[in-house]
Amino acid sequence: MALAGLLPSLYRPCKGLPGSGLAEAFATIQGLRVTTTSQEEREAHTAKGEPLFAGLPGDIAVSFEFFPPKSEKMELALWNAIETLAPLRPRFVSVTYGAGGSTRERTHATVARIARETAIPAAAHLTCVEASRAEVDEVAREYWQAGVRHIVALRGDPPAGPGTKFVPHPDGYANAAELVAGLSRIAPFEISVAAYPECHPDSANRAADLDNLKRKLDAGAVRAITQFFFEPDTFFRFRDAASAARIDAEIVPGIMPVTSFAAVSRMSKLCGTAIPGWLADLFEGLDEKPQARELVAATLTAELVRRLYAGDVRQFHFYTLNRAELSYAICHLLGVRPGDGQGGTK
Ligand SMILES: Cc1cc2nc3c(=O)[nH]c(=O)nc-3n(C[C@H](O)[C@H](O)[C@H](O)COP(=O)(O)OP(=O)(O)OC[C@H]3O[C@@H](n4cnc5c(N)ncnc54)[C@H](O)[C@@H]3O)c2cc1C
Repeated sequence: MALAGLLPSLYRPCKGLPGSGLAEAFATIQGLRVTTTSQEEREAHTAKGEPLFAGLPGDIAVSFEFFPPKSEKMELALWNAIETLAPLRPRFVSVTYGAGGSTRERTHATVARIARETAIPAAAHLTCVEASRAEVDEVAREYWQAGVRHIVALRGDPPAGPGTKFVPHPDGYANAAELVAGLSRIAPFEISVAAYPECHPDSANRAADLDNLKRKLDAGAVRAITQFFFEPDTFFRFRDAASAARIDAEIVPGIMPVTSFAAVSRMSKLCGTAIPGWLADLFEGLDEKPQARELVAATLTAELVRRLYAGDVRQFHFYTLNRAELSYAICHLLGVRPGDGQGGTK
């Protein structure tokens, strides 16, 4: 039984927190294991605290990430998601680029359609994998001509997948910092880059990873979007370390609502994101219960985002996986409401 669930009724007769009356009340509950006073106090504060999501002013900026659809059905789902999220007036939506440029046409078609048919600024992800500089530059020029002004510039993962050795194309950009510099020479793009609160798996150490981030920003990027993570402290520590390394650009947490624990575990292993034990516990037994899983996912993601907000984070980037509802619900909880026709489809 959840201790917090018992508290509201237990708390009422007790005056003040933390109070000995409360501790005594706990002690009378048969079979309830109360180990330390501090645990009681924590629970009591939780029970007594303000509603976590009441009265939030919606003073946040959000962006949403999509992947390019492979079929007509997926295209419909993507467009539904965009139409649902557009009224929240995201500051941009971005579309990923498949490994080795495998989605080059589809990414371009999706970003160009967003730019053409909606009022939302569209950003295209672009990688250096298996392409010469001339080829990458050509893609960037096509984006500029299509009215796309924002690129998420990435090195990309090796074609054999994350964890295998990255070998740059002989005439290609060797890493994201070089790509950022190349893009800046082509046109005055707004450029975002990737950052890794738990360190990129290829990095020698955290300091080297931060040096690399700094190189990307110095080359012309204006913001970093992070790899997903599950503990707010992971982000806060990274933000502090970045600040100590004199990185003052915007660092936006990448938020992954976990809807399939198995899939997210696989992804986390590949990209070096730690999965806390409590997360595995909370999803245990839900493999065959998609609706319960959605509710748990929404609760946990909302809590993560709310705790980041409490730590002064005001920008969030959602990995939507082309589904709108979770991201929409979390934005709603944070006070973000549909605007007056802005940001919608044209
Ligand atoms: C927000 C976000 C969006 C993403 N979108 C996509 C996507 O659309 N498509 C896709 O394929 N992948 C995507 N990825 C994954 C990304 O491509 C991989 O994580 C990739 O392995 C690294 O890309 P990067 O841009 O961070 O690389 P870089 O910043 O170039 O760094 C990669 C590694 O190389 C090291 N390194 C770089 N330059 C040097 C140097 N000069 N000397 C020594 N070491 C160096 C860095 O320290 C780091 O360990 C995304 C990741 C994030 C966080």
